[in-house]
Amino acid sequence: DIVNFNEFFNRIIDRFELSKSQNVTFHRMLPKTPYYVDIDTDKLTQVIDNIISNALKYSPDGGNIRFGIAVKEQILKVMISDDGMGIPSENVNRIFDRFYRVDRARARSMGGTGLGLAIAREMIEAHGGKIWAESEEGHGTTVFFTLDIVMDEEGEWD
Ligand code: ATP
Ligand code: MG
Repeated sequence: DIVNFNEFFNRIIDRFELSKSQNVTFHRMLPKTPYYVDIDTDKLTQVIDNIISNALKYSPDGGNIRFGIAVKEQILKVMISDDGMGIPSENVNRIFDRFYRVDRARARSMGGTGLGLAIAREMIEAHGGKIWAESEEGHGTTVFFTLDIVMDEEGEWD
C-alpha cells in the first residue's frame, strides 16, 4: 500500500504514548511534509512496534525517546532513539541476529525471545531498505531504517 509515512508513524507513536505505563517522555521531530512509501503496513507496524518496545524496555525512569525522519535523494531515514543503558559497541551489530540478546541474565528478567530485531531486519530488507543501530553504552541507542520514497496518489514526487 502507498501510505503517508508521517501519518502512519504518528499513529503508531500515539498508540504507545497512550498506553505506556513508564515515566518516559516522547519527542517527535517529524516534518509536516508528507512522504509516501509503498509498504506492507502490517509488517512495518510490527517492525516499528518492536523498535519502540525495545526503547521503552531499556529506558530508565524519566527517560526520553525521540522519533525523527530525514530525507535524502528519495530515501526516507527513520530514527528512534532512547537515552537508556545502551549496547557495548562490539555487540551493536549482533542485535539483529536471531536469538541474540546483549546480556543473558538481564534479558531473561526483561522477557522476550531475542527475535524482534531479526524479524525487523528481514522485513526491512524485503522492502529494499536497510536497518542498523548506533549505541553508546550507558548513554543510549538509536535504531535507523530506510525506505524508498514513492510518488503520492496524484503521481507527484514529494
Ligand atoms: P523480543 O523482541 O523477541 O521480545 P528482545 O527485545 O530481547 O526480544 P530484540 O528486539 O531482537 O529482542 O533485541 C535484541 C537485543 O538487543 C535485546 O535483547 C537487547 O539486549 C538489545 N537491545 C535492543 N534494543 C535495545 C535498546 N533500545 N537499548 C538497549 N538494548 C537493546
Ligand atoms: Mg524486542
